[in-house]
Amino acid sequence: MPHINGAILTEDGFVEGHISFENGVITGMEETLPPYPLMSGIVVPPFFNAHTHLGDSFIKDVPAGTIEEIVGPGGYKHRMLESAHDEAIIEGMRRSIETMISTGTLGFADFREGGIKGVELLKKAADGLPIKPVALSRPVEGTGEEVDALLKISDGFGMSSISDHDFEFLRMLSEKAHKKGKIFAIHFSERIREDVEKLLDLKPDLIVHAIELTGDDMDSIAEARIPVVICPRSNRFFGKSPKFCELLEHGIEVHLGTDNGMLAEPDMLEELRFLHSISGNEGKKLLGEMVMSLFERKLLKGDAIGLKEGQSATFTVIKKPWKYPEKGILSAEKEDLHIFLRGSDTNG
Ligand SMILES: [Zn+2]
Repeated sequence: MPHINGAILTEDGFVEGHISFENGVITGMEETLPPYPLMSGIVVPPFFNAHTHLGDSFIKDVPAGTIEEIVGPGGYKHRMLESAHDEAIIEGMRRSIETMISTGTLGFADFREGGIKGVELLKKAADGLPIKPVALSRPVEGTGEEVDALLKISDGFGMSSISDHDFEFLRMLSEKAHKKGKIFAIHFSERIREDVEKLLDLKPDLIVHAIELTGDDMDSIAEARIPVVICPRSNRFFGKSPKFCELLEHGIEVHLGTDNGMLAEPDMLEELRFLHSISGNEGKKLLGEMVMSLFERKLLKGDAIGLKEGQSATFTVIKKPWKYPEKGILSAEKEDLHIFLRGSDTNG
């Protein structure tokens, strides 16, 4: 029975030992290091990319501009999407999904614009690939019929921002989504500071960016236990920076996403390395916590983190020294990854 030695991420955190598997299933995990391992390293569940817009992956050159001009309603991205052929959009999404799989990400939450058709394009792009999209849709017409149909075919809603939509419409979407046990997510305070009281009114399951916040805003978000997804490379494009130290210090659950496919490759390790590079000493210390959130799947009704006996042998081995696993993950490059899908090493 093959086994891998190293630091294994279990439900109780990293444990030094080995993991064995057979017929695509994890058969055992023990705190011993038997000889002749298949390989050694840091063994982790697949990453979860907590925020993407894969639909714009096909756009190659993005001009300089403000958030409004580039990704706001009616902006450059939306004009490009309107004039693009479905095939080009699907191909761009598929390329991004393949990048995710080859960099150890097997789940992602996509803000899927374009109504019913938008969700269908994503499903086509992911068809047959070993990845789980969480599709957070966005109505185009906003009729009750469309909203109900979207709740049937998607995992909920992913909206632009409080400033971009009619507030009562957002409230209706949130109520309908929650009634059906689905997700309501929204960008918040990316460009300008938005009203946190209004945000709380919407009871979001997740917010994205949360840059322009005061300390009081952060306290309110922490108290309401709303997870925040930060996207540092996308922020940099617009000359901004996430306040991830402050968010963590306020007790907010922070996750990582890669945002628009046209701005950055959906590679979680690259996002993490970038965050590391812009973080001061205090931030670098806090990044250990951030690393764990890469695997966090309690977010958005996912499973608990950690590898377990009896589960599918789908995991990533990061071939790095494992004494300090968080450090190893932070310095990992694509070449250090071995992605196992149901027990087979996709790197051969
Ligand atoms: Zn976004």
